[in-house]
Amino acid sequence: MENLLDKVTSLAKRRGFIFPGSEIYGGLANSWDYGPLGHLLKQNIKSLWWKFFVQERDDMVPLDSAIIMNPRVWEASGHLQNFTDELVECKKCHHRFRLDQIPDFVEGQDISKLKCPDCGGIFTDPKSFNLMFKTFIGTNEDTSTTAYLRPETAGGMFVNFKNVLNVTRRRLPFGIAQIGKCFRNEITPGNFIFRTREFEIGEFEYFINPKDWEKVFEMWLGEIKHWWKDAMQINMDNLVWHEIPDGERAHYSKRTVDIEYKYPFGVKELHGIAYRTDFDLSRHEEVSGQDLKYTDPETNEKFLPHVIEPTFGIDRMLLVALLEAYHEEEVSTAKEGETETRVVMKFPKHLAPIQVAVLPLSKKEELSSVARDIAADLRMVYAVDYDETQSIGKRYRRQDEVGTPYCVTVDFDSLEDKKVTVRDRDSMKQERIAIEGIKSYLEDKYGWR
Ligand SMILES: [Zn+2]
Repeated sequence: MENLLDKVTSLAKRRGFIFPGSEIYGGLANSWDYGPLGHLLKQNIKSLWWKFFVQERDDMVPLDSAIIMNPRVWEASGHLQNFTDELVECKKCHHRFRLDQIPDFVEGQDISKLKCPDCGGIFTDPKSFNLMFKTFIGTNEDTSTTAYLRPETAGGMFVNFKNVLNVTRRRLPFGIAQIGKCFRNEITPGNFIFRTREFEIGEFEYFINPKDWEKVFEMWLGEIKHWWKDAMQINMDNLVWHEIPDGERAHYSKRTVDIEYKYPFGVKELHGIAYRTDFDLSRHEEVSGQDLKYTDPETNEKFLPHVIEPTFGIDRMLLVALLEAYHEEEVSTAKEGETETRVVMKFPKHLAPIQVAVLPLSKKEELSSVARDIAADLRMVYAVDYDETQSIGKRYRRQDEVGTPYCVTVDFDSLEDKKVTVRDRDSMKQERIAIEGIKSYLEDKYGWR
């Protein structure tokens, strides 16, 4: 669908999923705030991820490590030295570009031959630009107090490897997982929430005996497919499984697969999985001077575990959830032979920010008191919206637009027969259900959770 990104961005703002950051001050480039529905959607994606990859497994342990860490962590991980982009500046219009994103650039090219895509000017020599956000600890702002906001969560899991091993008495293989905010001073962010400077990731380090790496990698690839197909329920044709060839992987990695998505702005990365060998633990051992080895309790073999690392961008998964959910459908209106376009967000039910809307047919006290009681009761279990303004048709459309799977309507018959109408978002079919049976009806519909 053309303009799908524009449509989703506009709906996200209009309905309170995602607002431009700091909007009353004119915004802040590429920063976004999650509104009421966006928060709920993000929360649902994170909970689902956590349940799927951590809670339901017997080989994963959780962690929540600090955002600001000892700077030597980033020395060991290589981020201080290598987490850089090559940056050039146009001598005429002073716009800055990532060297590899200039359209005519090829590796090893003479920079003086390149022209600015904005004005045709020539460029300065490239400079390395570190993508980590800097800050200072304490009151002195000098190099001895410089610290960094973490650019990924992995560091926290490696430096706590021995702590976790000691307290949980885990045997290989096992993983440490966390979800958290990360920060990268990207030179060219953009495409809505696809690339931002502040973002959240869900990631885990799965520690293994190196002899098992190939089969463990396949196991995780299988789980990742299962995640997208059955938990996130996306159209699997929109995924591209990009096996990174030899020579293009990080030097320490023996296998990396980028899972890409067909966004409206092109096929680009969604998330990845990498076999990182023992690179991280051996670097932390070297820089910290601590012994991070594992002793196999059966063979007494002592070695540094190897690691397989799947990483997921929470914001990108949310973007994909929005893109996949957006539908426009022609539906008939109350008038004979007339149709209108209905915008409906067909989120998988378990991801929908609002699970049930309760709608009294009129604002009359006799109806709204019944409806409010039903809403209060359902709120104990579900995310509920109560709406009594405007016509029922308009209220259905509003709920469709935010992806609410079920609307419960209380009408004047309800006062007599103690029943309500439950409307299904996707089929728009309506069923008459006893008020006392609503909970078990919904439990059936949401049952698989
Ligand atoms: Zn220029």
